[in-house]
Amino acid sequence: MGSIPLFSPDDVNASVESAKYAFSKWSEKSARERSIVLFKAASLVREEQDRLSKLLTSEQGKILPEAKNEIQGFANVLEFYASIAGAVFGTALPKSDYGYSFTKKEPIGVCGAIIPWNMPVLIMAWKIGPAIASGCSIVLKPSQKTPLTTIEIAGIMKRAGLPDGVLEIVTGRGDIVGGAIAKSREISALSFTGSASTGAEVERLSCGTRKRLTLELGGSDPMVVCSDADIDLAVSGAVSGRFYNCGQTCTAVKRLFVFEDIYDSFLSKLKERTEKISVGNGLLKGVMMGPLNSREGLLSIEKLADEEVGKGADIISGGKIISGGDFDKGNFFEPTIIANPDFQSRLLREEVFGPILPVVPVNSLDTAIEYSNNTEFGLGASVWTKNLKDAYAFSEGVDAGIVWVNKHLKIPPEVPFGGEKSSGTGRENGISALEHYMREKTVIISP
Ligand code: NAD
Repeated sequence: MGSIPLFSPDDVNASVESAKYAFSKWSEKSARERSIVLFKAASLVREEQDRLSKLLTSEQGKILPEAKNEIQGFANVLEFYASIAGAVFGTALPKSDYGYSFTKKEPIGVCGAIIPWNMPVLIMAWKIGPAIASGCSIVLKPSQKTPLTTIEIAGIMKRAGLPDGVLEIVTGRGDIVGGAIAKSREISALSFTGSASTGAEVERLSCGTRKRLTLELGGSDPMVVCSDADIDLAVSGAVSGRFYNCGQTCTAVKRLFVFEDIYDSFLSKLKERTEKISVGNGLLKGVMMGPLNSREGLLSIEKLADEEVGKGADIISGGKIISGGDFDKGNFFEPTIIANPDFQSRLLREEVFGPILPVVPVNSLDTAIEYSNNTEFGLGASVWTKNLKDAYAFSEGVDAGIVWVNKHLKIPPEVPFGGEKSSGTGRENGISALEHYMREKTVIISP
């Protein structure tokens, strides 16, 4: 499909040097000038969305409508940051014995970004949008599995007027290239998105470099369906929440807890909807779910399903690799629903990155909250109910960075997003992400 350079640590350091030079000029631009470039880039990306979406589907596997959605999401995020580039202010402080004081917010310097393969374009925007808007330069490492659309978009950013060096793309192996970014003392802030284990390694490697660190890590999001929920709406939410991007989304619905009195009817509707999902090549019309991104991912999902069956769980739908004909060219797995999983199973405790949804009955909201919190993760969570009191109680009790009521998965650019527990630290999106890329300076003027 394409080839990419394999950067060495020295190559990464050279990119950091270019970004350092670019920072000295870019940080001097007004917020208005930076906004103009971001708006232009968003508009060029929209113009080229068909070509970019096909490239993204080809390298990542997601179906074309999802790829288009992601490309549009990129443009939405850039436009959001273009519109608030000048919106972070310092404070004027009361006169003291020493004179007048004020604080101002300055771009922090050269920044780093390390991103995963599952949503490479949207996550690129979450990082470069606020960094570029605030006047920083940024060195970004895409996943070695999905570098191509990122590189194309970086070219578009240049065409939009982004000066050389403000956005440096560095490609190659995670441990070498990502490791060099984490260890660099010239990088003032790093935003990492990826698995919890790599996040821990990045934290270790960054230690002592005094860089500001945001970690956006994995999740095992619970979805709770209460007795009074709109069942059809909740079934749709569970299906799209789990099978979007073939289940490879950090905030996918990964565990489903359904109130006992609606459990049977819910499960039969869920089965019916799941069995209507057509699986195939994401470039083809009518396909609703593409392949997993890697063979390794496919085999780990198969192993999990087999493990559950071995422990006595019931496969309600799916459960198998799809093979034969064109299916042998990709990593296709049936959309799978598993009932009565073992409570200690990996399916209910670890992050499962693929199209398997475990369903568990619960007898009360308290139990649902207890089960929801029974994992090391705390990224997203949702509750489906018409009762505001229950919605509020769930939002209070659940360990999560983002809680949806009667929705799951959707994250508009203005909403802060991030996790608790092993799901990470810090927030992306929203105006608060600009703060990650800025430092506060105090000025005292003596009379
Ligand atoms: P990963 O941790 O394997 O890789 C992420 C990035 O880190 C890649 O660019 C990789 O090359 C790089 N990397 C690998 N080893 C490194 C090292 N030693 N030092 C520095 N960088 C290194 O994750 P993945 O498989 O690409 O992505 C899937 C994971 O990302 C899932 O856990 C998913 O939940 C998570 N994710 C989280 C969010 C979020 O916002 N919280 C969003 C999307 C994905």
